[in-house]
Amino acid sequence: MAVVPVYNMITVPDSSLFLQTGVYRAMTGRAPVENEKVTVIVAKREASRRELESDSFYPIGVSGQIREVNEQGYLVIRLGQRVNLDEVYVFPDKTIELTVSRRADVEDLDPADAALRLTAIKEELLSFSRGFEWGEMLRGFVAAWESIGDVGAGMSPWMSASNEARYALLAEDSRKARFDKLEAMIYENLELARVRLKAQSAQRADHEKLYKEQALRKQIDYLQQELEEMHPEEESDLRALEKKIESCGMNETALKEARKLLARLKSEGQSGHESGMLTDYLEFLTSLPWKKEEAKTISLDEAEQILDADHFGLEKVKKRILEQLAVMQLKGQQSGSILLFVGAPGTGKTSIGQSIAKALGREYVRVSLGGVRDEADIRGHRRTYIGAMPGRILDGIAKCGVSNPVMVLDEVDKLSVSYNGDPAAALLEVLDPEQNFSFTDHYLNVPYDLSDVLFICTANTLDTIPEPLLNRMEVIRFQGYTPTEKQEIALRHLLPKALEAAGLKDGDTEISPETIAHIISEYTREAGVRGLKKRIDTLCRAAAVQLVRGGKPPVVMTPDNLREYMDMSPIRQKNVKEHAEPGVVTGLAWTQVGGDVLYIETKATKGSGKLTITGQLGDVMKESAQIAVSLVKSLYPDKAELLEKEDLHIHVPDGATPKDGPSAGITLTTALASLVSGVPVPPAVAMTGEVSLQGSVNPIGGLPEKLMAAQRSGVKKVFIPADNVDDLRDVAKEVRDQLTIIPVQSVAEVLSKLSLTQAN
Ligand code: ADP
Repeated sequence: MAVVPVYNMITVPDSSLFLQTGVYRAMTGRAPVENEKVTVIVAKREASRRELESDSFYPIGVSGQIREVNEQGYLVIRLGQRVNLDEVYVFPDKTIELTVSRRADVEDLDPADAALRLTAIKEELLSFSRGFEWGEMLRGFVAAWESIGDVGAGMSPWMSASNEARYALLAEDSRKARFDKLEAMIYENLELARVRLKAQSAQRADHEKLYKEQALRKQIDYLQQELEEMHPEEESDLRALEKKIESCGMNETALKEARKLLARLKSEGQSGHESGMLTDYLEFLTSLPWKKEEAKTISLDEAEQILDADHFGLEKVKKRILEQLAVMQLKGQQSGSILLFVGAPGTGKTSIGQSIAKALGREYVRVSLGGVRDEADIRGHRRTYIGAMPGRILDGIAKCGVSNPVMVLDEVDKLSVSYNGDPAAALLEVLDPEQNFSFTDHYLNVPYDLSDVLFICTANTLDTIPEPLLNRMEVIRFQGYTPTEKQEIALRHLLPKALEAAGLKDGDTEISPETIAHIISEYTREAGVRGLKKRIDTLCRAAAVQLVRGGKPPVVMTPDNLREYMDMSPIRQKNVKEHAEPGVVTGLAWTQVGGDVLYIETKATKGSGKLTITGQLGDVMKESAQIAVSLVKSLYPDKAELLEKEDLHIHVPDGATPKDGPSAGITLTTALASLVSGVPVPPAVAMTGEVSLQGSVNPIGGLPEKLMAAQRSGVKKVFIPADNVDDLRDVAKEVRDQLTIIPVQSVAEVLSKLSLTQAN
C-alpha cells in the first residue's frame, strides 16, 4: 500500500483524483501500479518530499485505489472512505508509514435531493460552457460525473479555494454539510469565472476601440492628404502646424492643449474669427524649444581663456564665474546660483554675460527689464486678451531656440510696481529653482521648464531691488575702471573693434596711446567705458570719412588735433577747487553711475538760529545735517551762543543729482566746524563717513567707487571710517597708491588732524 501526500486538491470520498505520474513518483518515491491500494493524506503546507515530517499532515485522510495509469502521464485514483491518521511516521528516507482507523460519515444526505441538485449543477456548467470551443470537451466529462465529489475533483484545478478550504470538505463528517459546502464552492467559482470573462471582454472592447481609433486617424490622414493635393495652398499651413505639434517634443499637457486648439482651428477654418489668434498661439507654442539639451562638459581652462580674451581685468569677477562653472560641472547641473552683477553702466556686466555663454558653448539671450511695470511683461497676457503676447522670458527662450541658454536679465533694479501687478513677484517665480521647472506663462497656459536656463541679472544699484528677489541672488560687484585699466581696455578691445566696424585697415589711421589717454581724461567722466567706446567709434568714423574724401592714409590723431574729429567739446572736469574757504569741504558720494565728488558749502548770516538746507537733499541727508549742527554746537560750546544768533545755511551744489544717504555726515560736520572756527580745509582733502550723535564715525558703502572718483578729481587725502579698512582690498592699487587714506574713528580725530580744534 502506498501513502500519497497531496496539497491543494479536492479529496472527498466518491470522487476520482487525477494526478500526474511525475508528481506521484516525486511524492511517494515509487511508481504507480494499477489496482494498488493507496491512502491519500493532505499536507498542511506546500512541501517537497524531502521536507515532509510526521507533523506535516492534517489528521484525516482518505483511502483509495489506483484505477488507471495512462500513457499521457496521468493516473486516476478512485477515492473511497475517510480514515483517521492515528499515527504517522516519516522515516529518514522519507517513506511514510501510517496507522489508520476508519472515520465514519454521518449519513444525513437525502439521495433524491442530492441527485436533483447535482443535475442542476451539471446543467449550469453546460450552459456556461456553451459558446466556447472547449465546451464540447467539457460535455464529455460532465456526462461521466456521477457525484458532486466528481464535479469538485474535476474542477479542482480551476477553482480558487485555499488548501484549508479544500481540506475542510474532507474533514466534514456530515455528508449533507459536505455536499452543501462543495456545492457553494462550485457555484462561487462559476460566478467568478463569469465575472472574469466579462472583464476580459471589456478589456478586449477597449483594445478594439484603440485599434479602431488608429485606423480612423490613418483614414483621416489619408483623406487630408488627398484634399491637400487638390488644394495645396489651403491645407499646407495646418498640416505643417500639425506636424510640428507632433514632432517638437512638447510635454503631455502642452500636447493636449495644442491638439485641442488645432482641432478648433480645423473646425473653424482659416476664416473663423479666432483663427488668427489660434494660429499665432500654435506657431509660438511649436517654436519653443521643448527638447532638453545635453549638459556639456566644461573645460575650466578653456572657459578661463575665453573670459580673459574678451575682457581685460575684472579678476575677481572672473574668479567667481569660474567657481560657479566648477560647481555646475560637479553637480551635473546646467544652472546654478543666480548671479547679480552690480555696477555702474559700461563696466562690462552685460558683455561678460555674453562671454559666459561663449565659454559654456551655450546660446546667449538678453532680456531687458528696464521700465517693466506690468506683471504681464514677465508672464504674458492671457490668450483671451486682444493682442495677447507671451512674456519676455518665454519670448527670449523662443528667440534663442534652445532650452538651456545663458539668459541675462538686464536692469533688474529698474522694475517697478504698478496697478497691473508686481513684475518682481513674477520674476521671483522665474528664478526660483523650486518652481521654475513648471513656469506657466499666461499666454502659453501650459507649464514650461526653465530649470536649465542659466540666469544672470544686472543692476546699477541694489537699493531698488525688492528684498525677496535680492535674497535669491548672489551679488558680484563691478567697481569701475581706473584710467590705466581704461587705457588697456581701449587699446586691446575697443579700438580694434572700432577700426574693424569702420572698415579701417592697418596703416589707415594712427591713434597713439597718448591720444587714448587724452580721450579718457578730457572727453569722458565715467566709471565704465561706455562713453570711451563711443568717442573711439566717433574717431574711427571720422577717419573713414577723411579717407573716402581722398585723404592720404594714415589719418593721424593726436591729443592736439583731437578736437577736430570729436563731435563734442572736452568735458569740464570736475577737479577739486584750488582755493580753500572756511565752511566748504569736499565730500564723496556714491551714485548709480559710479562715484562722484561733491562740495558741502555752509554759511552763517545774521538771524535767529534757523537752519536752511538746500540742494535736493534726501531725508537721511537732512537728518545728517541736523546731527552735524548739534555736534558742532557741543564741540564748540563757546560758539553755540553765536549760532543761536545766526541763521545757518547748508548747500550741496549740483542740484540735478539727487543726493541721499548718511555718508556725508562727517563732511557736513567738518564743513560746519570749519565755518565756526574760521579755519579753511584744503579742497584736496575729502572725506566720507556716517556720524553718530556721540561723534563717532561709522562705516559706509561704495568705498571703492568713492575713492576712484576722488582720485579722478585730484583729491590727495581721504578720511574714511576705520571700520571700512577691510574694503580697501577691493580698491585698485593704482588708486590706493595715489591717495593718502586715513582711517578715523571719531569726528574729533578728523577735526584735530585738520587743525580745526585749536583755532578760534
Ligand atoms: P554694462 O552692461 O555694465 O552697462 P556693457 O557690458 O554693455 O556694460 O559694456 C559696454 C562696452 O564696454 C561693451 O562693448 C564691452 O565689451 C566693453 N567692456 C566693458 N568692460 C570691458 C573689459 N573689462 N574688457 C573689454 N571690454 C570691456
